[in-house]
Amino acid sequence: MTITIGVLALQGDVREHRTALESAGARTVGVRRPEELAQVDGLVLPGGESTTIDKLLRIFELDEPLRARIAEGLPVYGSCAGMILLADRILGGTADQRTIGGLDVTVRRNAFGRQVDSFETDLAVAGLPGDERPVHAVFIRAPWVEDVGPGVEVLARIPDASTPGIPHAAAGRIVAVQQGPLLATSFHPEISGDARVHERFVQIAKG
Ligand code: GLN
Repeated sequence: MTITIGVLALQGDVREHRTALESAGARTVGVRRPEELAQVDGLVLPGGESTTIDKLLRIFELDEPLRARIAEGLPVYGSCAGMILLADRILGGTADQRTIGGLDVTVRRNAFGRQVDSFETDLAVAGLPGDERPVHAVFIRAPWVEDVGPGVEVLARIPDASTPGIPHAAAGRIVAVQQGPLLATSFHPEISGDARVHERFVQIAKG
């Protein structure tokens, strides 16, 4: 069975997600309109700038249709800004910033601090298909998950503070979670050429 995964195409790194999803065996479509959203079996919310994507979701009148589909059980994978959009609660957002919600977590936006805008590290991520190799995770002005509700499974944490480039306060922070059909990562697996996170999402979307 080939399924169709939409990639929200308002802003952010849409092309990279489509490539990773296609190598995981899905058909992909860019989503900008409610009619396109209605046709997908799952949706990726890409990284970018969550405040901008929030505004565009409202302008394109996709926010309420997306909340409705999430409430019906649509599988959604949010990466970085996409994780922020999926979170029920946000710390460090702008005054008028809203999220779509659905995922019972609190995220802290731009959590890793100014001195470390970006870093890369190898991360153990639970439950990926294939092998046990760590994921090479790229973090770009990334959020972390500050706390999770009881139905949320933690898939990955920052290993320890002794890794070069990783701020001390980041040790042990949660950076990948799943709650039923909702998957979220602080990092960008779509740019490191390893499609296993996308494969897991395609499996989730196939049910
Ligand atoms: N800092 C961005 C935000 O708040 C997220 C960055 C990203 O998606 N790479 O939306």
